Amino acid sequence: MIFHNPRGGPELGCDECGCRWFDRHSNTCYECGATVSSEEIRAYQQVLADFHKEKGITVNAIPS
Ligand SMILES: [Zn+2]
Repeated sequence: MIFHNPRGGPELGCDECGCRWFDRHSNTCYECGATVSSEEIRAYQQVLADFHKEKGITVNAIPS
């Protein structure tokens, strides 16, 4: 699920337990171990990109 923090920025959280901590390498929740689907991650990245565009924020590239 996608949350919005108090500043309006989107944050990706676990569908199962609602926590916002998950392992970005295995895409599983730290709390309950639920898998975060790639569709969910793509949806989040889209929302985040739209948010940054709207706010005029330039994000540093994430090192791979
Ligand atoms: Zn969870």
